[in-house]
Amino acid sequence: MEIIVRAGDTFNLYSQLFSVPLDLIVDSNADTDPNLLAIGQTVKIPGYSIWQYTVQPGDTFWTIHNRFSIPLQRLLFVNPLVQPQNLKIGSIIRVPVRLENQPLIRSKEYAFEELEQDINQLESAYPFITVTEIGTSVEGKSIYMIKVGKGSRRVQWNASFHANEWITSPILMSLLNEHLWHLTNTESPTHSERIKTYSECSLYVIGMVNPDGVDLVVKGPTEANEESVLAINNGSEDFSGWKANINGVDLNDQFPAGWELEKERTNVTSPSPRDFPGNAPLDQPESQAMAELANQIPFDMMIALHTQGAEFYWGYEGLEPAISQLYASVFSEISGYRSVRYVDSHAGYKDWFILEFRKPGFTFELGKGVNPLPLDQFSDIYSAMNPVFIRSIKGIT
Ligand SMILES: [Zn+2]
Repeated sequence: MEIIVRAGDTFNLYSQLFSVPLDLIVDSNADTDPNLLAIGQTVKIPGYSIWQYTVQPGDTFWTIHNRFSIPLQRLLFVNPLVQPQNLKIGSIIRVPVRLENQPLIRSKEYAFEELEQDINQLESAYPFITVTEIGTSVEGKSIYMIKVGKGSRRVQWNASFHANEWITSPILMSLLNEHLWHLTNTESPTHSERIKTYSECSLYVIGMVNPDGVDLVVKGPTEANEESVLAINNGSEDFSGWKANINGVDLNDQFPAGWELEKERTNVTSPSPRDFPGNAPLDQPESQAMAELANQIPFDMMIALHTQGAEFYWGYEGLEPAISQLYASVFSEISGYRSVRYVDSHAGYKDWFILEFRKPGFTFELGKGVNPLPLDQFSDIYSAMNPVFIRSIKGIT
């Protein structure tokens, strides 16, 4: 929400009044010098929204504060021009409401449009995050990255490399949403452990690596791509088995880590709903964007979300650092997922990440069943992954 600066205000005062960490208020107002606040200027307070309440007969600030369970001070603060003794029936009172920590049990399929809505909401609710575009898909959709925190430890999470594994996107966005809520709320029981990570860790979230493929699985073909995707899909209108990008290239078979071996192993030589590694490594814009990102930002850890199997992979050819094993045992313990060192495949993002940077990389296979997993698995998957999410940010010391 936005508030108007009054005489004598400081960010410190706002921090205490709204129970929001000072650091997050400062970072939500990056263009404002905290020492040069001007009366009448606008300041963003993260984690709140403003409701417009119409004064009813018999209302006082006291009854409104009781009705909404809002500290009286907060109510008075955001209504500086209102005379508390003389509320006019029908006039509007601004009510500052802390955003809910929604458990976000999603009841709706999730495609690129939903991702954009979520990103817009998070950006306006938590202005201390930064959203950038790290590349665009074949069809020109943005591949978004959200950054949280400003520490020297850098952790990347990504979702939906594979189209029919789109449930990983709302899972990841919900994990992020909850994290932002706890970060912002100094009254939350997990606030202190989370806010410590804000200065120690930079978290990078890529919510949907393959937006064209996800849209195809969730919403079906478009006029523009119908002919080509039907040809790749052998004429079938059932796209539920589609993992690839819109060109029929498996984005997680695209990385220069045993790509030739993977090509032989899958033996898929032309565009296909799954397993075609492309004509050359990194010949698709989505995989290029993910490779460039890792080349530009020295991530200390990478976690890629896939489905399904309730297990995760953490090795590649013995090149993974020793600490990967330590993380694997912790992640397995707190998620209940099976820890698997090696799988018989190459050219995945995790494989390349380990080969290229010798940093811990993980492929998590969320949930169990047949892809696309039904949304009724959302809660179970969320409960398994939430502790892994927090632990990856906190690190193991
Ligand atoms: Zn996958």
